Amino acid sequence: MADIGFHFDTTYTGLPEAFFTRVGPVSVPAPEMVLFNGPLAEQLGLDASQSSQAALAAIFAGNQLPDGADPLAMAYAGHQFGHFTMLGDGRAVLLGEHLAPDGSRHDIQLKGSGRTPYSRGGDGRAVLGPMLREYIISEALHGLGIPSTRSLAVVKTGERVAREAPLPGAILTRVAGSHIRVGTFEYAAAKRDPALLQALLDYTAERHYPSWQDAHDNKAVAVLTQAMDRQADLIVHWLRVGFIHGVMNTDNMTLSGESIDFGPCAFMDAYDPATVFSSIDQQGRYAYGNQPWIAQWNLARLAECLLPLMASDVDAAVAIAEPLLKGFPALYHGKWLAMMRAKLGLFGEQADDEQLVTDLLEWMHANQADFTNTFRELSQENRPDGERYQQDDFSAWYTRWQARLAQNSKPLKSSLCLMRNSNPAVIPRNHKVEEALAAAEGGDVTRVEDLLRALENPYKETGRDAAYRSPPAAGERVHQTFCGT
Ligand code: AMP
Ligand code: MG
Repeated sequence: MADIGFHFDTTYTGLPEAFFTRVGPVSVPAPEMVLFNGPLAEQLGLDASQSSQAALAAIFAGNQLPDGADPLAMAYAGHQFGHFTMLGDGRAVLLGEHLAPDGSRHDIQLKGSGRTPYSRGGDGRAVLGPMLREYIISEALHGLGIPSTRSLAVVKTGERVAREAPLPGAILTRVAGSHIRVGTFEYAAAKRDPALLQALLDYTAERHYPSWQDAHDNKAVAVLTQAMDRQADLIVHWLRVGFIHGVMNTDNMTLSGESIDFGPCAFMDAYDPATVFSSIDQQGRYAYGNQPWIAQWNLARLAECLLPLMASDVDAAVAIAEPLLKGFPALYHGKWLAMMRAKLGLFGEQADDEQLVTDLLEWMHANQADFTNTFRELSQENRPDGERYQQDDFSAWYTRWQARLAQNSKPLKSSLCLMRNSNPAVIPRNHKVEEALAAAEGGDVTRVEDLLRALENPYKETGRDAAYRSPPAAGERVHQTFCGT
């Protein structure tokens, strides 16, 4: 029996049956390991050292169920680009909830594992490029200190999957705090059965907000309040590193506060708040600078679902939820400004801080300055010496910034340290991701591995990582990313 030390203790099956369907992965013809995340496995208390590559591939392809797995597909719904749809795991199954040695609980999910009752017209499969992309981006976010689902393994299935062209099939093993989404609440609300909503709220509070009573004595209000806080934190992290999720549909927003579902996501090179990469986002709904307002929109959908649990009559519930939601911009803005202060090494609070921040951003926008490298260059001891920095408008800003730094209660060394820990040197630049994926699709995964290594310590500059720090040359620029999932 295949056993690498999974310790399953699945609680999701304790929810009413409407929330899931027991269904296993569909076997694949020729599983082959592509990537395995050793450090994550170790953290989870898994031991792959006694297993052959073939045995591991069989597990992570879903051909061999590990002991204790009780696979299921979850039901959920979601607003996709503003439109409500009933969804569900159409190409994923949860093997179970694994307990790590430290007691933490993790969903172990196979993504691309075959059809389920929620597949609608889909084939239930995933292809190699997008699964490797999810692996790279999720691990990059984790390395950057940003809450994210993790990636434990990618296997090739040995099958061709029909997309625009036939592409190599693959399965990603996703590790998540849970897979409860805003869309899971929307699903429960759409069923119009208050018992379902109550069960989901109870479950979510216990799993993710065990100290919910700190926020409010009403559980629904408490969970909404804390979910808003986590989402504000998450979006501020994304903005800090120039990340654009690309598909912030409500089914792609977790109650755990982790980033999830990386389709046409990308990191911005030159600063422009209107940046959109996704080929399916023609309107710019999910552009870089829109993300806080989309988070708020999604949270409003969550609030609507929770209304019946907030008070016995609707008007009373709305009277609670509305002011809460209206508080989101201020909540977000406070966190954003604190984050930007850190990026500029500012301690304490001065009245002009926000102006200092927005003036720099405007200068960067006007000059198409690289978001990551500009902040990193400002994090060095000396004034950066590139041509752009010789401009008078930059000099004027720089003088103001230096004056503000002089007002800090801490020495310059502390500012530089704060800045270097807030401003990454290495991000998964899109042209590098695409380059690595193209090599992997051609059978050479070493470029993906090399990129992943550079992303493990993104706040440290090393000689080896220099190639990952350059913005794309004109011919290398990637303007669009495709779901192609
Ligand atoms: P995603 O774009 O991955 O967030 O998926 C949105 C919805 O479409 C989810 O319900 C997925 O399960 C479903 N889906 C995506 N791709 C497929 C596929 N190839 N087969 C079946 N369902 C899919
Ligand atoms: Mg999704």
